[in-house]
Amino acid sequence: MTVRVGVIGVGMIGQDHIRRLTHVLSGAQVVAITDVDPARAQSVADGLSSCTVHSTGQDVIRDDAVDAVLVTSWGPTHEEFVLAAIEAGKPVFCEKPLATTQEACRRIVDAEVASGRRLVMVGFMRRYDAAYQAVKGAVDDGSIGAPLLMHCAHRNPSVPPYGFTTEMIITDSAIHEIDLVRWMFDEDIAAATVLKPRRNSNAADDMQDPLVLLLEMASGILVDVELSMNIRFGYDIRGEVVGEFGTAALAETGAAVVKNDGRYAGRVPADWRERFIRAYDIELQDWIDAVASGGFTGPSAWDGHLAAVASDTCIEALRTGQRVEVASHERPDFYAKG
Ligand code: NAP
Repeated sequence: MTVRVGVIGVGMIGQDHIRRLTHVLSGAQVVAITDVDPARAQSVADGLSSCTVHSTGQDVIRDDAVDAVLVTSWGPTHEEFVLAAIEAGKPVFCEKPLATTQEACRRIVDAEVASGRRLVMVGFMRRYDAAYQAVKGAVDDGSIGAPLLMHCAHRNPSVPPYGFTTEMIITDSAIHEIDLVRWMFDEDIAAATVLKPRRNSNAADDMQDPLVLLLEMASGILVDVELSMNIRFGYDIRGEVVGEFGTAALAETGAAVVKNDGRYAGRVPADWRERFIRAYDIELQDWIDAVASGGFTGPSAWDGHLAAVASDTCIEALRTGQRVEVASHERPDFYAKG
């Protein structure tokens, strides 16, 4: 079966996902798209064979030719489109964040539970990255003993000088680590503190960059996350788990280390598309395969909700300068593991 996909929002990641659905993965065809910029939507459709351009996301979801929906518009629009897809009974892959507030995420969770069918997958693609999976393998098989600490760094060369706020360092960037550590240790985040180091002079005047998050997991594992948004040299993602008698760290990802003239050098990825290119491929193929078989897979709406709860907690910790406990939320049986 070919899964006929409708895409809402054809900006950077929307176009990248259309490229992989069309040229890299199997079992999917992009048959309908929309964007608030109709000219952009038309130019993307012109590069595809028989793809309808709709005026709104609601029209994409209603289109009978669309089996499943990919939401890649900007965050504040996600709730509306995910809720509409659930109402239409269509599987929906939503790029992170699931929605921009925990209340909105909860409405999505409630709607999905009421529908009686798992329809929502959230785009937390780091779970599909081979390097992170290898680190998790070492944690799960006991090779390093019980995990005690994790050091993470999330370094971006730059962010837009206008419109990207300090809080977005948490909601847009740290949200990846927030989901990742829940997955890595299979437990929830219990409390958060946010530290503000000396400012990077490359950052916009009103931005506190870098930030350091201290996340306390339920079992006491302590995670520190450095978030540097304007570090210029490249997109550098680091992670190291410290266990009772060993460590497991993400390896460098460049294809080759070149040694010459008494030096050695490798490549630092330019951006997230380069660093996580395979993870995105595997993630979306997993979704297509699940849709084709009538099943579900991947990070759930409940994961999206808990990420939003932890992200809101970090924002409160940033604003107050205090350690803030994450409110606990009881998982509906609908999202039971396994
Ligand atoms: P982007 O380049 O700004 O693309 C968003 C697109 O959606 C733009 O074309 C935008 O149009 C359009 N749009 C906005 N509202 C819409 C609506 N109501 N209906 C249809 N289209 C609409 O942003 P992006 O970088 O692709 O990010 C999109 C989403 O993906 C965000 O939620 C982001 O957090 C997420 N993302 C995830 C990852 C990841 O690693 N998983 C990486 C990048 C982005 P205008 O530009 O005209 O507003």
